Amino acid sequence: MEERGSPDGDPARSLEQGPEGAETSIQVVLRVRPMSEAELRRGEQSALHCSGTRTLQVSPPGGGPDVAFRFGAVLDGTRTQEDVFRACGVRRLGELALRGFSCTIFTFGQTGSGKTYTLTGPPPQGEGEPVPPSLAGVMQRTFSWLWGRVQQLGSPATLRASYLEIYNEQVRDLLSLGSPRPLPVRWNKTRGFYVEQLRVVEIGSLEALMGLLQLGLSRRRSSAHTLNQASSRSHALLTLYISRQTPLQMLRADAGEPPAGGKLCFVDLAGSEKVAATGSRGELMLEANSINRSLLALGHCISLLLDPQRKQSHIPFRDSKLTKLLADSLGGRGVTLMVACVSPSAQCLPETLSTLRYASRAQRVTTRPQAPKSPRAKWPEHVEMEKLQLQEENQRLRRQLEQLDPKARGQSEARLAWAQRNLYGMLQEFMLENERLRKEMSQLQNSRDLARDEQRILAQQVHELERRLLSACYLHQPDPGPTPPCPCWMGPAPPCHVLTPEASSSNMLLSGRPPPRAPPCSPGLAKCPGERDWIQTRALAELLTEEEVAPSAPPLPVEPPGTSPALRGGATAPNLAQRLEALRQQIGSSLRRVRSQPPARQGAQSPSQSHPAR
Ligand code: ADP
Ligand code: MG
Repeated sequence: MEERGSPDGDPARSLEQGPEGAETSIQVVLRVRPMSEAELRRGEQSALHCSGTRTLQVSPPGGGPDVAFRFGAVLDGTRTQEDVFRACGVRRLGELALRGFSCTIFTFGQTGSGKTYTLTGPPPQGEGEPVPPSLAGVMQRTFSWLWGRVQQLGSPATLRASYLEIYNEQVRDLLSLGSPRPLPVRWNKTRGFYVEQLRVVEIGSLEALMGLLQLGLSRRRSSAHTLNQASSRSHALLTLYISRQTPLQMLRADAGEPPAGGKLCFVDLAGSEKVAATGSRGELMLEANSINRSLLALGHCISLLLDPQRKQSHIPFRDSKLTKLLADSLGGRGVTLMVACVSPSAQCLPETLSTLRYASRAQRVTTRPQAPKSPRAKWPEHVEMEKLQLQEENQRLRRQLEQLDPKARGQSEARLAWAQRNLYGMLQEFMLENERLRKEMSQLQNSRDLARDEQRILAQQVHELERRLLSACYLHQPDPGPTPPCPCWMGPAPPCHVLTPEASSSNMLLSGRPPPRAPPCSPGLAKCPGERDWIQTRALAELLTEEEVAPSAPPLPVEPPGTSPALRGGATAPNLAQRLEALRQQIGSSLRRVRSQPPARQGAQSPSQSHPAR
């Protein structure tokens, strides 16, 4: 026989298709814990049998037909914590929370059935002792997955957390800085029910989030009783707020407003208990009564939510703090998962059947999930879509850029920098070279002008000397005859700055004489005394005439590189100076010879008489 309340269709599939707007039923996963050592010692029998992955068979103690319950998933005592995490589909809920939905996971069941174990693993063995990774519960596994997922997201996401407990109908902040004190539960139109002054902590790392969980667990009320050595005496709610707003948007948000974005809430309910079975007395009994009252209120709300006639009418969420804070998850716009926990022991069968019926009803409760509307949601849908596409493309391109071989990227960057440096360097070098060439050219022009001046002066001196030489030769001939008029009389040569002091003094000696005469034109004359000297002198004069310096500047000689520009273009100056010196010497020797000979006839004046040598 199959118990009523089995869900039609696959709720998981309906969520994958997208919960927005559509009615979605609460999903239920059933976990049967293994028999405890104490139960085995007492020889208790299991009354539950899993049939397949989604059906549980219950054998009534007095015989009779089995009762079957069907849930989204059924996990027996052999299944690991990781199996439960996967079966719960918490990742999908996390994705929905990232998209802005409000998601709730709550455990439900008899005390000692394994609710806290399912969510957070076994109780810590010592102060600050972390739960072994293999035994970590749904919460730790969700935290790890979600933290990794947030890091992958293109747009920045902020995680915050709050952690509270409802103990004896009082809400207490498990993350408060001082000792936990009762906080009021309020209601307003935009937020629905909320806890005033609840501390919401921004999460900077996965370790910090795990630390908050441990802190809350250690502050939560728990007591030992017959069925559970570490029985939670309160309902605990840890909420993760996932905000994908920019820091600026978060700053602009109104103070007191909840963080915009999705929520993922983990609710560890305190277990219903038969006071007689748990042996609770005094404070424990008070706690038990309080727990039971709130669980009854929860059951009542679920029943009313299931009744199609009364669904539109008033649902008494205000009857307890627990129902107030779960109102949105149960009947509102949230996405909800229930993990129903049961003990396999036949001794616990009445409570187990109660839990199974309760869970069966719950999975017929539907919600209408809706992501909270932010101001940006008022934008046209296509604009929002386009923005998301652009963000994704941006991310993809950034990743591709990062994946580029860093070596090759470094090389190309270095090459570019080198080329830039090089071009600039080359430009500077060209400018300097240009400047250097300009200076060299102006030096060359100066040298050339200087050489031209020197050449002109030397040429004049050579002409003058030549003329005087010829005149001296003529005067010392035996019969020079009448002195013809000089066709090319020249004044005294201008002082030459390139002549040596000795050369200058001989120049003075020569220039001190009267204007020389040109040799007479006497073609019939065969030979005369001093003819050899004359011929030599004339040959020298001819040589000088032939090599006369052209009035224009001579072509610049091709010099080996590095030759001083001052030397270039001035090569003819030393040549002329040599010739000038040779000429002077020749004149000097001719004069000495002439002086040593007696005058040829009376009246003829010796040069030494008229011009004493200095
Ligand atoms: P609850 O929160 O429902 O009152 P607990 O989670 O505290 O129950 O579990 C009661 C005891 O049973 C604890 O000692 C816990 O370690 C143990 N327990 C619960 N479920 C399992 C399980 N699946 N495997 C092993 N031990 C379990
Ligand atoms: Mg517990």
